[in-house]
Amino acid sequence: MQFDVKVKDAVKSFGNLKAVNKLSFDSVPGVNIILGPNGAGKSTLLRCIDGLYRLDNGSLKVMGVDPYTDNGIRTRMSYLSDNYALYDYLDVKSNLKFFGRLYKMNDRNTIERSREILKKLNALEYFDKKVYELSRGTKQKIALCRALLNKPDILLLDEPTAFLDANSSESIRKLLQEFSEEKKTIIWVTQKLDEVTRFNCRVAVINKGNIIKDSTTSGLYSTILRNSFVNIRLASPIKHEIAKRIPGFYSSNSREPNAIKIKIRKYSDINKALDYLIDKKAFVVSVDYIEPLIETLSWRNNGV
Ligand code: ADP
Repeated sequence: MQFDVKVKDAVKSFGNLKAVNKLSFDSVPGVNIILGPNGAGKSTLLRCIDGLYRLDNGSLKVMGVDPYTDNGIRTRMSYLSDNYALYDYLDVKSNLKFFGRLYKMNDRNTIERSREILKKLNALEYFDKKVYELSRGTKQKIALCRALLNKPDILLLDEPTAFLDANSSESIRKLLQEFSEEKKTIIWVTQKLDEVTRFNCRVAVINKGNIIKDSTTSGLYSTILRNSFVNIRLASPIKHEIAKRIPGFYSSNSREPNAIKIKIRKYSDINKALDYLIDKKAFVVSVDYIEPLIETLSWRNNGV
């Protein structure tokens, strides 16, 4: 059985705005990241896949059926949206029991499975707390637990680590990695570039409602590097004539005369700049890698 999502020439408009614009996308088993800036159409696409929105044009099939007209498919699929859809005045356990019943699970199974998932997310201690008492990050974990309760075949995630610290994000990635190893399908939309570089998976880049690149984490990495900068701080100001000759020199800043920004294409470019500075007897105080923003990346047409 293929747990697949097939989208062909999909269009979804709001008035004159085409939020999804002739978009085609076939999922692969495991993690599919859809990366794009704000307003690119990521959430709209997920809502179409979840059957909340009907396409204006094109076709969309989840495991062979149209999710808008075939509600049955929604029991096989879970959607973690950007609003967590939890009941604030119920405790976590009651929330999960409620959703478990919607999935036709008995309470004992729901509690057992919830405890197992929350333990992996380091959130078991909140089981008896009211949702309104929880931080945004913890609510995000509870919502993910709810999405995983029914062991879905397809999991749709809208920025699942948006409000989490590094450790919590890591626990979510680990859990999702386990889930994807069962050959199930995850469609994970995000605007966080650093998220992409932590997973080894397929990555499709979306902009203005369309997929503009379809690659993998490692394929994308060269684009990220090509658009990256490094800030080098020195112990004392360096003459502009010398700075200009640093391999990769991009700019210096009169307000910060000790700092130089260089543009890199590969990591060894950092070494070349440092070698040059050391040769000129400059003392390097710090080297900071500046990851580009998704909005500023320049994509090449053939290959990422
Ligand atoms: P993303 O998730 O990539 O940030 P969205 O899918 O939320 O992008 O939005 C894509 C575009 O569609 C945006 O310009 C947004 O303002 C617009 N949009 C999204 N939902 C609606 C809606 N329900 N009504 C009108 N416009 C919408």
